[in-house]
Amino acid sequence: MNPGKESLLKIPLAVPDLSGNEARYLNDCITSTFVSSVGPFVDRFEAMVAQASGAAAAVAVCSGTCGLHAALTALGVGPGDLVIVPSLTFIASANAVAHCGATPWLVDVDPHTWNLDPVLLQQVLTKETVKRTDGTLLHRASGRRVAAVMAVHTLGLPAAMEAILTVARSRGLPVIADAAAALGATRHGKPVGALGAELSVFSFNGNKTITCGGGGAVVGEDPELLARVRHLTTTARVGSGYDHDMVGFNYRMTSLQAAVGCAQLERLEELVAAKRRIRAHYDEAFADLGAWLIPFPNPADSAGACWFSGFVMHRDNPSRVEALRAGLQEVGIDARPFWKPIHQQPPYREAPATPQPVSEELWWRVVTLPCSTNLHPLDQRRVILAVRKLLKG
Ligand SMILES: *Cc1c(COP(=O)(O)O)cnc(C)c1O
Repeated sequence: MNPGKESLLKIPLAVPDLSGNEARYLNDCITSTFVSSVGPFVDRFEAMVAQASGAAAAVAVCSGTCGLHAALTALGVGPGDLVIVPSLTFIASANAVAHCGATPWLVDVDPHTWNLDPVLLQQVLTKETVKRTDGTLLHRASGRRVAAVMAVHTLGLPAAMEAILTVARSRGLPVIADAAAALGATRHGKPVGALGAELSVFSFNGNKTITCGGGGAVVGEDPELLARVRHLTTTARVGSGYDHDMVGFNYRMTSLQAAVGCAQLERLEELVAAKRRIRAHYDEAFADLGAWLIPFPNPADSAGACWFSGFVMHRDNPSRVEALRAGLQEVGIDARPFWKPIHQQPPYREAPATPQPVSEELWWRVVTLPCSTNLHPLDQRRVILAVRKLLKG
């Protein structure tokens, strides 16, 4: 039981802090035998997520991906449809669309926020769609229906929802927000679940700021729409017998997950504050390295949830960025690459897409750095010194 020097010195990218009531609540589940969906924790978790996100109500689900799939289905997305998705996102955003039998229509992002570019969205819809007399919006080239717009709050920074909503609403399109890592964020002072999307979806995966081990939640304002999400995620059961009125999913969250989630949410403010503090400290410490790198987006109109920290190397070449990550890994610092854009992923190479100058120039230059909420200041100092040494040689 003598961990090697190596493992003692490793600084991970992001590990959960489970030092609150997690163990106690889990123990409550075990002693009560309420380990499935019965018991107090799922209801309590849903109330806490609704409250924290500023939405009217929440439906807890087993993952962010499942939440996106159920939300898209509830909004009427089905086989053959197109859904607008920003190209710079985690693959789950696109997969949820594909799970509906639909195809993502990949739109480039705004370089200042890494989020869906509303100006480009407007241009693309104007140029490439036609409205049928019954109001259906069609993609001119393929004749497919455009069924929804998905905004993604990348890294927990809210997308420009007012502009996106204006463009979408003028064409009768519902808006869904992939808010996977954005719980705790605000835009113009408004919490992220109250920015106007029909439905917003959170993830509580192990690497998110707030975790259930795995899990998700769908939030919104419209009780009928949320009832449809709940119905879909619980096998579309009608009554207490074995009657089911549509093809539903088994996407429920268990009490075990919700118990961990409740304990985590009790500390939401503290955990998000830690993420922000870590991000701000890196940005400050690298402020004089403008010749080498730029910080992650931090626009004044929002308070992002700062899920990850790191920086973007200036236009250089991929092997130098890779060498920097490798150099950090070599000294036990878990620096990682960022999402490869969706249009470059084999399952989506044929999907309709705008030109992608921003996402293609951005993704490979990103270096993510250790940012666990319990990252020790001395460890952060080690990361900072290692980055400076590798850059300045
Ligand atoms: C984490 C994440 C997801 C997926 O959530 P899971 O709970 O892992 O299914 C989806 N979209 C984005 C942007 C994410 O960061």
